[in-house]
Amino acid sequence: MSSRCQSALKGDLPALDKAIQEVPLYNVDQIAKMKADFFTLNATGKETIGNYLDRTAGPSGMFTIYNDTVERGSRAGIYYRSSRNPLGANSTNYLLLHEMMHWILDGSETFLAKHLGLNAIGDQPRDDELNSLYFNSGCLDPG
Ligand SMILES: [Zn+2]
Repeated sequence: MSSRCQSALKGDLPALDKAIQEVPLYNVDQIAKMKADFFTLNATGKETIGNYLDRTAGPSGMFTIYNDTVERGSRAGIYYRSSRNPLGANSTNYLLLHEMMHWILDGSETFLAKHLGLNAIGDQPRDDELNSLYFNSGCLDPG
């Protein structure tokens, strides 16, 4: 993590440290053909988890199911594809940091953007983009 991120997320570091130990990571490459409704109640019909990730994750190719208070009955965790976001790659680290922040805050894109002090507008795709710009630049406020 960049020193700018360490400083900006100082108050979140203890929770992030804990989350790194406990958040389930699902490599969707290995489970792509399983039915999505096994993992999330937001899936439709016969959709596989691979299709669900590709349909919903946006440009990052990752998503987080926070916990069962948000999506009751779903399997909480961070979902990614190792073929697209190999663990250990610098770009993956910032995507994971973004998802980990959702995990510890148990919150939406807008909630996260507000927490980071960014100019959130309450539009999920737009606020996701704002959060992504922030994390992918090593915690620079996109303004
Ligand atoms: Zn996000």
